Amino acid sequence: MTELRAHEAVNQYFADAAMVLELDDEMSAILTTPYREIAVQVPVRLDDGSLLVTRGYRVQHNGARGPYKGGIRYHPSADLNEVRALASLMTWKTALLDLPFGGAKGGLEVDPTGMSDGELQRMTRRFMQGIQHVLGVYRDIPAPDVNTNAKVMAWMMDAFSASHGYSPAIVTGKPLDLGGAPGREAATGRGCVFVLDAHCQHHGRDLASQRVVVQGFGNVGSWVARSLHERGAKVIAVSDVRGAVVDQAGVDVPGMVALVGSGGSVVEAARGDVISNEELLSLDCDVLVPAALGEVITGANADEVRATVVLEAANYPVTPDADKVLRDRGIDVIPDILANAGGVTGSYFEWTQNIQQFTWKEERFTAELLDRMQGAFHFTQAFADEHRVPLRVAAYAIGIRRVAAAARLRGYI
Ligand code: NAD
Repeated sequence: MTELRAHEAVNQYFADAAMVLELDDEMSAILTTPYREIAVQVPVRLDDGSLLVTRGYRVQHNGARGPYKGGIRYHPSADLNEVRALASLMTWKTALLDLPFGGAKGGLEVDPTGMSDGELQRMTRRFMQGIQHVLGVYRDIPAPDVNTNAKVMAWMMDAFSASHGYSPAIVTGKPLDLGGAPGREAATGRGCVFVLDAHCQHHGRDLASQRVVVQGFGNVGSWVARSLHERGAKVIAVSDVRGAVVDQAGVDVPGMVALVGSGGSVVEAARGDVISNEELLSLDCDVLVPAALGEVITGANADEVRATVVLEAANYPVTPDADKVLRDRGIDVIPDILANAGGVTGSYFEWTQNIQQFTWKEERFTAELLDRMQGAFHFTQAFADEHRVPLRVAAYAIGIRRVAAAARLRGYI
């Protein structure tokens, strides 16, 4: 069975929701096509004197509701098709959360593993040089994603400010000493847990009694695990690119955070049994949280998932073929554009604080995040109940309806 490529797959999800909305073909054509795509050459002089020439992309999918917004990832799979798919997800996500943004995504098609800070910084500055003319505090605001972090955002902010004047609001996810917002780093993972909590309550379950498996232990996965641990839920397995570890008694989450924070891998943990990443996905649990990369649950392995709920912390972790298998098996999927929207919601809080030059305390940030994430869940669940559709269709439909309304009002067609 051949699965769709990422952008075609996301447009398949779009089509399912467009049918519920009875969206006309002209608007569908506008909303499934990216507005602008930039591909740039990014040469970087490596420390050994050799030259690495890589490709960088920025896709601005739709800006009907506000400036383009979306992360930048450094990964070998970040080609134009993948970045396009991720950019369109951002359009539906920002609209679902009713944020005043459009959707964008960026990527450098490179494996940054083992690159020195000097190499990473030169590569980042060169990439920004290639795309800065389409960015702007009210045009397009990048953020961190896979293999990029606050340090990379600081270089991006500096590279942009060098030609446009001091501009902290040009990127979000910055270090706290440079206009970052207390709470932003944790926002995506915490937001996932806020949504899961609301989902549990809706179904009469208790978050604290859930047994959870988390794939990926980077920014998102580690904060999902930390928030679950703080709320009393049991994280029974975690993984990273090197493998997975399972501990039915409950993973020592603070110990794991310290281990990974000091450069180690989850497979080096003192407790638990090491298993493969494939085995992790088929562990018996209440909630499976893919929090690493896209397309990890496919038509080939969806039959093996033994969870009651799949919480999509990563972007596009479940392909349309897998989505159908999970639905037929009665497994509830909390879709990425709802589950992981805490990241862009936190970015919105950071952006507004930068523009107003007024800093919030972390308590305010987290309280606003809770309110917006749980509000979005209840709104999505109500749509799903009213139209008798899965949460993914409901989430897309709400986002698409809002973007279509703005596009019509602005005279796009
Ligand atoms: P990250 O680079 O901080 O972490 C990625 C994690 O995935 C690492 O632990 C890495 O070891 C692991 N990983 C990589 N390849 C793997 C593989 N083949 N098998 C298992 N694990 C693997 O990235 P992140 O920022 O945590 O992003 C993770 C996901 O969440 C991505 O899909 C991203 O688009 C999405 N997301 C991130 C944010 C954010 O604010 N950072 C917001 C919304 C969505």
